[in-house]
Amino acid sequence: MSKTLPFTLLSFSWTVLASWPTCIVPITSTPYSYEVPSWLSLNYSCTGSPQVWEARPSRGKGIGVFATRPLDPGDIILAELPVIIIEPPLIRDGVAYPLTSVEPLLQAAFDTLSEEHKSAVLSLHAHLTPEEASDTETRLLPIFRSNAYLVGSLMSEFGLFPKGARINHSCRPNSNQVWIDKTGKRVVRAIRRIEEGEEISATYLPLLQSRKERQRALSQYGFKCTCSACVLGKAEQEASDKRRNDIRLAFHDFEPHLSLSVPQSVADKRKAQMNVEASMQLVKLLEEEELSDYLAPAYRIVALSFARIERWDQATIWAHKSYNLRLAENEDAEGTLEMAALTSQFISSWNEELYNKSKQQG
Ligand SMILES: [Zn+2]
Repeated sequence: MSKTLPFTLLSFSWTVLASWPTCIVPITSTPYSYEVPSWLSLNYSCTGSPQVWEARPSRGKGIGVFATRPLDPGDIILAELPVIIIEPPLIRDGVAYPLTSVEPLLQAAFDTLSEEHKSAVLSLHAHLTPEEASDTETRLLPIFRSNAYLVGSLMSEFGLFPKGARINHSCRPNSNQVWIDKTGKRVVRAIRRIEEGEEISATYLPLLQSRKERQRALSQYGFKCTCSACVLGKAEQEASDKRRNDIRLAFHDFEPHLSLSVPQSVADKRKAQMNVEASMQLVKLLEEEELSDYLAPAYRIVALSFARIERWDQATIWAHKSYNLRLAENEDAEGTLEMAALTSQFISSWNEELYNKSKQQG
């Protein structure tokens, strides 16, 4: 994303990272009597920075965030407390307050920040309206509007995270960001393998749209996306747009069929079998489009589709794959708990099936 601020403002927060942290695992004289592995105990000490990213110039995008070591899917890149949280005035009579009504709250919160945090906030990119561009005094509100995320237990507040805000957009992102209410942090994780030196990317918008639609939506941030999905040749671009549209339709079409009821009629059984194949095709399309963040709901669809034809082995495997992805994001989230319950339900059905088979054979 293009950053328009002068170099001097941005340079303060560049983090030139040390290499890998050096960690010392204590040698215990007595075995642990409870199940806390040594590396999780307080005796475990690290020297050097555990930080796995650095901010530095990114070609054509101002500043970007880069991995300083290889990262695997699920690895935490950053867990950040918001420097500012704003609870906007309640919506009255179904009408939202104008954004300008947030300004006094924002200014009051900003005034309480340390100088370091004030500089971090002011160094963030903001896409300015023509009126804002002519007024150098009012940078705070555009910065907030361009970078704030919904937070809080009801996701009704707005939080500003200056480090995470430096992550540039891609329509094939390699990280996602999730608000964890228990810790009050926004956590950025790798959603696929990221190599050392690779730029970390996130998405600023829903990705199941054509390139043209995405570019239109991104214009509100004041930049043109040049990610690998946006610089394809004509034929490849059309194929990519078609895949995204097919994925969007598949998620929509599957939704009413995601029950655990086993079809009884021959026609319904045949349809359920076809749905299994369609669900596998959905996963394949997501992999081809490198849309890793949509895999957990897709795996859930595959699991439920197998359950409807009573293939409990496959239902278990796919439910567990979805559960693992959800668990890496947030162990307390509704989606994680649902996948844990489904996995365990499918395992029971699988066990029952194996037991019945052994009885028949015996
Ligand atoms: Zn793009």
